[in-house]
Amino acid sequence: MTTPQLTEGIRPRLEHCRDCKRRWLVQRGFCPSCGSSETEMKDVSGVATVQAVTTVHRSVQPSAIGPAPYCIVLVQLEAVPDVRIMALAETAPAIGGKVQVTRHGQTGAPYLVTSEPTGTFG
Ligand SMILES: [Zn+2]
Repeated sequence: MTTPQLTEGIRPRLEHCRDCKRRWLVQRGFCPSCGSSETEMKDVSGVATVQAVTTVHRSVQPSAIGPAPYCIVLVQLEAVPDVRIMALAETAPAIGGKVQVTRHGQTGAPYLVTSEPTGTFG
């Protein structure tokens, strides 16, 4: 199944602490490291490394990219190595491979693996 929304998307948006410079994925309004409330939201590159892949063969309802089979991919952001994101993919990327993750929609929309910058899947 080809999903037209995979052509472009919104880069990952992280919350940044102005005091200790830590970054995290889920918006909290305060820093989980130093407790500061001096935080701001910033977009970062979606280039990431695949750490794990699970193929879903059966699901109760279709995912954001369509019915099963689809893949759930755990990626580590290159720009912020301590942040990992769960994303959806139509096919399984290679573990250790580089991918691009983007979000299609507003806050709460799932992240999707939209391309593999360094080559093809496999
Ligand atoms: Zn902090």
